[in-house]
Amino acid sequence: MDRYQKLRDLAEEKLCETDQGINKLPKEIDELIHELQVHQIELEMQNEELQRSRTEIEELHQKYYDLYNSAPAGYITMDMATKITEINIIGAKLIGIDPTEKHKYIFNLFITPEYRELFNFHVKNALRTGNKQNFELDLKRRDKTIFHAHIEMDMKLEKNTLYKLVIVDITERKKLEEDLKRSNNELKQFAYVASHDLQEPLRTIVSFTQLLAKRYEGKLDKDADEFVDFIVDASIRMKQQIDDLLEFSGVMTHGGNFEKINMNDVLKQVISSLNTLINENNAKISCDPLPEVVADHRQLARLFQNIIINSIKFRKPDEAPKIHISAKKDEENNEYIFSVSDNGIGIESQYQDRIFTIFQRLHPMEEYKGTGIGLSVAKKIVERHGGLIWVESKFGKGSTFYFTIPVSTNNIKTS
Ligand code: ADP
Repeated sequence: MDRYQKLRDLAEEKLCETDQGINKLPKEIDELIHELQVHQIELEMQNEELQRSRTEIEELHQKYYDLYNSAPAGYITMDMATKITEINIIGAKLIGIDPTEKHKYIFNLFITPEYRELFNFHVKNALRTGNKQNFELDLKRRDKTIFHAHIEMDMKLEKNTLYKLVIVDITERKKLEEDLKRSNNELKQFAYVASHDLQEPLRTIVSFTQLLAKRYEGKLDKDADEFVDFIVDASIRMKQQIDDLLEFSGVMTHGGNFEKINMNDVLKQVISSLNTLINENNAKISCDPLPEVVADHRQLARLFQNIIINSIKFRKPDEAPKIHISAKKDEENNEYIFSVSDNGIGIESQYQDRIFTIFQRLHPMEEYKGTGIGLSVAKKIVERHGGLIWVESKFGKGSTFYFTIPVSTNNIKTS
């Protein structure tokens, strides 16, 4: 077979293969078209998914942007030289600039000169510690008006260190706080001065009406004797009220002489000062060992005294008063819980909060004497020591008064 023949055979073979290829073609094309269609549908679906997430991102972005802009605080981002890079609408409004022109402004220039040192101090602190800084300063708007602001400063140590500030205008709040503080002080001062100054003329009234009653009893007519008795009674009651009021305002304005004290000693001293009252009522007082606390000795004695006097005063008529004093440590809250329980008349549950309010009494004067100040003084004392006071009681069965005093790091020892 010559070379030419060989080539021809090969060509035919190829043709045959091609023929077969041509015959197979429609099937493969079909498969290919199918494959392409599937891909196209897949792509369309992916595209829809992409569109959806893009819309979602846009919506989220819009939400974030709305929140950023209408948050009740100003947000400002700036570089190390305090050149403003970002500001929300509230922030721009606060310092009185157009937010689109933010890049023109240096934040430092909005700080009043007397507060610049404080601002720099917090910048240094934030850089040194990496902690958020919270402080207050005066800012001057572009129209030169001044407002008092609370600032929260966060440092982002990124490429060119950024400050992020959250600014809240607290001018109104500050003014209200100051007004409240002033009127509170005035009120305290007033209560103190009024009750103190009233003591003197009242002492005169009490002693002269008592003298009148003693000297002229039976010398005037019967009505006059009765009237004089009323005056004596009322003036003694008023004196008691004024003394209590003075005590109450005294707790608010004085005291706070904190030292390590042994509560067993405080209680012993109170019981001995109430000796007559205890004996008259045949009261039995028992107590568990009490801890040492860091507190104002005089005030804690007054606290025990007011609660114990009530336990005797609000006794059941046919049962001798039994009082038990105890204390336990609340490890979780790091405080001592003291309790004074009695077997007295008890307090209905709906009145158990009210009794700690000044002048609130549950009984008429003829039934139980008192001014309604004792427990409000007790509450003030406990609060001044960072504690709480409350009562648990079953009407007709007795009451337990609880108060807490925080454990100081110096007095963890229980005696
Ligand atoms: P006062 O004893 O002068 O009335 P307090 O402020 O000491 O004023 O007490 C307020 C009221 O709480 C009392 O009038 C009384 O009704 C009630 N109360 C206080 N302690 C007890 C107690 N141990 N048992 C029953 N009631 C009490």
